Amino acid sequence: MKCFDCPRNCGVDRNQNLGFCRESDKIRIAKIIPNFMWEEPCLTGNKGALAIFFSGCNLRCKFCQNYQISHIGKGEEYSPQEFKDLLSTYNLSNFSCIDLITPTHFSSLLFQALKDFNSPIPIVWNSSGYEKVETIKKVSSFVDIFLIDFKYYDNQLAQHLSCANDYFEYASTCIKEISILKPNKFDNNLMQQGMIIRHLVLPENYKDSIKILDYIKTNVNDPVIALMSQFTPTKESPIKERLKPLEFKIVLSHAKKIELNKGYFQDLSSSSTEFIPKF
Ligand code: SF4
Repeated sequence: MKCFDCPRNCGVDRNQNLGFCRESDKIRIAKIIPNFMWEEPCLTGNKGALAIFFSGCNLRCKFCQNYQISHIGKGEEYSPQEFKDLLSTYNLSNFSCIDLITPTHFSSLLFQALKDFNSPIPIVWNSSGYEKVETIKKVSSFVDIFLIDFKYYDNQLAQHLSCANDYFEYASTCIKEISILKPNKFDNNLMQQGMIIRHLVLPENYKDSIKILDYIKTNVNDPVIALMSQFTPTKESPIKERLKPLEFKIVLSHAKKIELNKGYFQDLSSSSTEFIPKF
């Protein structure tokens, strides 16, 4: 079957050829980390997530902090049934949630695997935001929480760093739709349903971050945000400098000024390779 799972619309039969994401018609997992504590505290609680890192990516940002798995690609392949069976080997009550990390390019396969999977814990769709609203609607039948990036307002910047000159249209439409589909629900400070919008402030692009915050304020009900300063220049990144303290301070004060204050706000000490998981 030809693949139109994401806005790249490659139309390739992934059994025969590879599209932009360079993944076949099997679900490929780079790594599983049980009791993963690197997500927002309302997701990890004190048990941690069952974190499943998928190989490849449909966005493939040039500055990706997980370059080894998003660009180089490695891992074990599973059919949808094998993936479902794999999940059943874990005692899920030992985790706060199932964290599907970079799942968009496997959305049809994951839908087959999980559409009638009865999970006792929330399932998190942890994605780049470059996806179709039809995909969001489809996976929302088994996904409880969307942990979604909102990377760029300016499509020229999106083109330069992620070869996606329509990023804003896709991400903003998905984010609006999720806020309607999945209103936030918490139980004992743990999110059970809803959306967290992540934004990484990029060096020399704080004005783009301000536009993103303004968009969220105007278009999303009850927004929970995660504003991140952890950008770390990697060997492959076209951006070589680090975020300046003043740049992040300006973005933080803007969030405060427009009363976007529900969520998580890093400090500049987070800008370190220590915040990049090792694979
Ligand atoms: S999921 Fe991969 S193959 Fe399918 S349209 Fe997107 S980039 Fe292309």
